[in-house]
Parts: sequence; structure tokens; C-alpha cells
Amino acid sequence: MLTWQEARRYHPNQKGIHQRQGQILSICASFIEKKQKYPDQLLSEDLMIYIGEGGLTQPQPDSPGNLALKKAKETRAIFPVIAKWGKNQYEYLGKWQVIDWEYSPLQGLPAHYRFLLRRVEPPETEARMAKKIILSQESLQPRRAAFVTNRILRDTKVIQELKALYRYTCQVCHNRLNRGFGDPIVEGHHIKPLGHPHNGPDIPENVIILCPNHHALFDIGAITIVNSGFKLTHFQRF
Ligand SMILES: [Zn+2]
Repeated sequence: MLTWQEARRYHPNQKGIHQRQGQILSICASFIEKKQKYPDQLLSEDLMIYIGEGGLTQPQPDSPGNLALKKAKETRAIFPVIAKWGKNQYEYLGKWQVIDWEYSPLQGLPAHYRFLLRRVEPPETEARMAKKIILSQESLQPRRAAFVTNRILRDTKVIQELKALYRYTCQVCHNRLNRGFGDPIVEGHHIKPLGHPHNGPDIPENVIILCPNHHALFDIGAITIVNSGFKLTHFQRF
């Protein structure tokens, strides 16, 4: 955790969105539970919904901050993000991009901006890459390796049991893919990810069994499970 004094080197002001002349420079997402003024939401380690500025008591305006984030989708700007977890408790989350946004009233709230952000560079990768660039030109290697390891690690005992329970079929499309000789290709996905900062539990209620296509859609946040009712939702509908 960082104090504000340490965090401000990534995000120098106390506002959520830091922009200059329409260019996004950095943002601060707030994940303080119970304080629902800005209910930003981490969907996975690399994906979040960021609520635009202007509060939720009246329709959000096209403020300079909201306009800068809208523009960032077109320009594919990459910018640092810090998270606020509590009073004077911040975390640097690496570099992110706006991949989509919508402006609509939802859940009885006035119209507001919901920006879908994807992490393009975790903080640890950044540090490793800086080191690696000195050693060689293969600076992208660590990211690929990290991704593969991640998927293998997720095959927990709970996942193995659920795969068998669902007869190795995808819970979304009900397809069963085989490598040949009946050897199935199916993957387990933790809805609330294991490990920091989500600390999702490794229990059947937190796992969904998916084919690789639907797993990829979950991983990029195109589909997810909404908290109430166990319904499957596409990003553009929640
Ligand atoms: Zn599927």
C-alpha cells in the first residue's frame, strides 16, 4: 500500500480524472466499499469499470475529465491508474487503456458514464521490463509467460471436480471440445479471481466451467456474472 504522498507521483491531484487539454494523464479509481458515490468496480485483475465524474445524483455532464476518457478510447491512450482502498491507502495498478464506454441510466441512477478499462501493463511487469530492456530486446517475454502460468495455476481441485460434474462441457454454450480420443478441452474460471486484491474463494460457487472461447470472453470482461441472480451478462448490458 502507498500513502497519498507516494501515490501522487502517479496521479498528482485529488480528483478522479487527471487530464490536460483533453488528454488523459492518469486516474484514481475508488474501491472503498460502502462509500457508493463512485462505485468503480474491478471485474478481474486486468479489467475494471470506471464511473465518470460528476456524481450520481443527476445526469453526468460532458466534463473535461469525461471527455478526455471518451477520447482516450479513440486514441488508445495508455495511462497510469491508482486505486484508493481506504483512507490514505493507495495502490499503483500499472498502465491501462479505455476499451469501451457507455452513457446510460442504470439501476435507477441518473445517466452516467461507465468506462471499461483494460490493464496493458501490470506494475510488476513494468519493473521487470525495465530490467529486461537492459539485458536484451525480448521485453515482451515475461508478459506471455505470466499469462500461461496463470491459466495452469487455476486448475484447482475444485475446478477438476466441477469439470467432471459438468461432463467437460462449457456452461455457456454447452459445447464439449476434444483434443482427440475423447480428451476434453475445458477450463475453469474463478468469477472473483483468486489472490490479491480480490481474494476470491476457491469454492464451487465461485467457479464456472468454460470452453476456451467463452473463457477468453470472460477474461476480457465481454461477459460476466452479475452479482444478483447468477445471470450471465454482456458488458454492454450491465
Ligand atoms: Zn462455450
